[in-house]
Amino acid sequence: KKIDQVYELDKTLGKGKFGSVVLCRSRATGEEFACKTLKKGEEIVHREVEIMQHLSGHPGVVTLKAVYEDAESFYLVMELCSEGRLLDQMAREGLYSEQKAAHIIKELMLAVRYCHEMGVVHRDIKPENILLTTSGQMKLADFGLAVRILDGQHLTGIVGSPAYVAPEVLVGNYSEKVDIWSAGVLLHALLIGVLPFKGDSLDTVFEAIKKDKLDFVGGAWESVSQPARDLLSKMLTRNISTRLTADAVLRHPWISFYTEPSL
Ligand code: ADP
Ligand code: MG
Ligand code: MG
Repeated sequence: KKIDQVYELDKTLGKGKFGSVVLCRSRATGEEFACKTLKKGEEIVHREVEIMQHLSGHPGVVTLKAVYEDAESFYLVMELCSEGRLLDQMAREGLYSEQKAAHIIKELMLAVRYCHEMGVVHRDIKPENILLTTSGQMKLADFGLAVRILDGQHLTGIVGSPAYVAPEVLVGNYSEKVDIWSAGVLLHALLIGVLPFKGDSLDTVFEAIKKDKLDFVGGAWESVSQPARDLLSKMLTRNISTRLTADAVLRHPWISFYTEPSL
């Protein structure tokens, strides 16, 4: 069947590099979903579909409901996150309280731990790709740059979004720990309101990622607790062997202090 026989396609929800996402409604039940169109032709498209199918089954990951195709495109029918992107919430909220930030990082780490357990590295964690539902649940989305790894296998290829990219990605030999670095960049932005590694060109951003030290100096830092700083420095360390795993982030005292216990 063709997608428009089954769903009524509605307004645009978002646009990305490779496709657009529209609201769609089941003609049978009226239930609403999000539909991402991916133009065929590149291997990368197949990988996004395959990885989403592999992952469906965690409350913190956007679920794929169905896939349609025609000659030109794939259509990924996903659960709808009607509250939009974390990025837009951040623009509205400004600085986050430690409690709110801890809640977001915890939900993100539950999703990332699941991905890593399933052998998937997301590689593009940033607030554009973290979506929110009406019930307030956070969902990790956009597996367009994700890859599956086998035990101990190393990844190569420089991918990601400049400000969020881990230093070892720039060297071109890395593992799932890159997702923890990106989440650390997010945590910094939540607590301080600015990105940790900045520059006015791609090269200066990359230089900052490779060299800049977190100094915890300046206005907004004064109100940030010691445990929050401790966690941040253990997520944004360039030493990959001491950088925390998703599971270790979940067990960090700052997370347990501010959030309800969970499995
Ligand atoms: P790209 O790979 O092109 O970045 P994304 O999968 O990130 O595509 O989707 C682009 C945008 O579409 C997102 O930033 C978001 O605004 C919107 N979007 C994607 N998936 C959903 C969804 N399930 N529910 C609501 N909006 C979505
Ligand atoms: Mg995206
Ligand atoms: Mg993508």
